[in-house]
Amino acid sequence: MKCLMCQSFALTHICKTCQKNFLQPSINRRILPSGVEVISFYRYNEIKKLLHTKHTDLGYHIYTLLAKNSFVPFGNALQIDEKVAIIAIDDNPKELYSHTAILAKSLQNVQLHYYPSLLRAKNDVSYSGKSKQFRLQNPREFHFERFEENLCVLVDDIITTGTTLSEAITTMRTNDKEVLICLTLADAKS
Ligand SMILES: [Zn+2]
Repeated sequence: MKCLMCQSFALTHICKTCQKNFLQPSINRRILPSGVEVISFYRYNEIKKLLHTKHTDLGYHIYTLLAKNSFVPFGNALQIDEKVAIIAIDDNPKELYSHTAILAKSLQNVQLHYYPSLLRAKNDVSYSGKSKQFRLQNPREFHFERFEENLCVLVDDIITTGTTLSEAITTMRTNDKEVLICLTLADAKS
């Protein structure tokens, strides 16, 4: 196959050289009004083309490669004494797979446990290209399901206004869960 980025022959969808040159994460931090920190691994414009593959079959492979270069090393380096639940925003697959589930699953290790489909949005409205006001007026209304751990990490692919993650944090706090950190692939505002 051909590397999606440099078009040269490769054994993976993005060749080793391009992964090394373009997929090295640069950590970007944002603090939400709730005080919870969001860490993003890429600048949105750097990986925009890759993120747009998410509605195609190719997206499965691309998100796996992005996760391998960012979420996996982050999860392995995270030093924490207690067990932590990993929860992905909206990981109900609307197509063949869920792109946020790929990211969340990649974090799993002995300390970090991924719970599939735990935080499901009752409101399926698309936020793409919508204003912050629209997003606030049309909350996701997350359906919460119980899990064992007190601490959790929230995972999404892109942070834009932060409305979705903020709503998810409120849902967690209402249910006596503490959000340690939020992780996203890209920050649309950086
Ligand atoms: Zn390449």
